[in-house]
Amino acid sequence: MLVYKFGGASVSSASSIKDLSDIVSSAGNELVVVVSAFGKTTNTLENLLARWYENSAERFVIFEKLKKYHFDIIRELLPAAGDPVYNEFAGLVGQIEKKLNSVPSADYDFEYDHLVSFGETASTKIISAYLNSININNTWIDARKWLRTDNAFREANVDLDKSGSELRKIIPAGRHGIWVTQGFIGGTETGCTTTLGREGSDYSAALAANLLDARKLVVWKDVPGILTADPSFFPEAEKIDELSYHEAIELSFYGARVIHPKTIKPLQNKNIPLFVKSFVNPRESGTLIHSIDAFVEIKPILIIKKAQMLISLTPRDFSFIAEDYLSRIFALFFKYRMKVNLIQHSAISFTICMDNSGPFVRELLSEMKTDFRVLYNEGLELITIRHYTQGVIEKYTAGRLVLVEQRSRNTVMFAVRQDFSGS
Ligand code: ASP
Ligand code: MG
Repeated sequence: MLVYKFGGASVSSASSIKDLSDIVSSAGNELVVVVSAFGKTTNTLENLLARWYENSAERFVIFEKLKKYHFDIIRELLPAAGDPVYNEFAGLVGQIEKKLNSVPSADYDFEYDHLVSFGETASTKIISAYLNSININNTWIDARKWLRTDNAFREANVDLDKSGSELRKIIPAGRHGIWVTQGFIGGTETGCTTTLGREGSDYSAALAANLLDARKLVVWKDVPGILTADPSFFPEAEKIDELSYHEAIELSFYGARVIHPKTIKPLQNKNIPLFVKSFVNPRESGTLIHSIDAFVEIKPILIIKKAQMLISLTPRDFSFIAEDYLSRIFALFFKYRMKVNLIQHSAISFTICMDNSGPFVRELLSEMKTDFRVLYNEGLELITIRHYTQGVIEKYTAGRLVLVEQRSRNTVMFAVRQDFSGS
């Protein structure tokens, strides 16, 4: 069995979905295709959710645009008006419309998963119908039926055993065929929809590969593979041919946006190789991630996280930051699902660099103010350099105001002001 994963950028238009169909048609007849929402649909759905909670009329404008975006793709791929996908898509749209006309429940995370999962449900319905229409016969499967999770909405935890037995019911060992399923979404025992965290489709694909003992997983991207830096800012970025699982985990943890951090473990556990390849040039070799025994020299790799915030906490009573304070601080990060990227602490001050995103940053800050004096800086970037050299550090930090620096043997991180164009 092979598992192919196509992210939002590789399914953002009818023409990219035609590229997908070329790739799928030459993959043989033992294939699971895991697909994300079209283009930036998940961002749009997040926006839609926020406007719904504000009871803003703008939600209907956003919704109409989203509907049109999908309908335009359907019409281009499946011009025959009688295709059942038109009705199926209309059914999905009807469900959302009904929601938008109702009052959202108090459980934001629950509503999030329910609404945002629409992106993947729609994209896979459309792609599956298109592939069938060009005689790439396939079966659409609902990830909510096989990817069993708990009910930690927006960041659900996967039950691997149950998922495995559900998936095996749908795809028994030795069965041939092509199956199309959603990334990012799963379902609880009682049938609630869940999601695995933003950009979680890679993780879904890795889980499917693990559960089906796949020969390999290929993640199809709009870049030639994993690069030493983001080519849109650093034209000198080079492709990395080969990485160990370990290095790939580290890179994704530090924010290399090429693969989701949770992707590697399910693959590593079963020694399944991961290829990151370009869907535009599928014959090129891409990057291979696998178990490497021998030492492979790695070039310095630059990872930049934008829209960062640095928060410094000092206990109001000037007591030391000890374990009780630390546990309270981390409980708050967990409660608001904040991504912490760097931590530094001294006797009476605790500094965190985190993503300044999502609707809950202000609430987090105000809750912290109960116990701490809180100072913060916004508009920062976090620069991480793996396998650094002094020359590379100088190149990327010259002229920048460094607020925090942290260095280990392999990695150096700098929180700096976000005012650098990369030239
Ligand atoms: N569509 C989801 C997102 O954009 C999941 C994914 O693309 O991996 O976060
Ligand atoms: Mg996406």
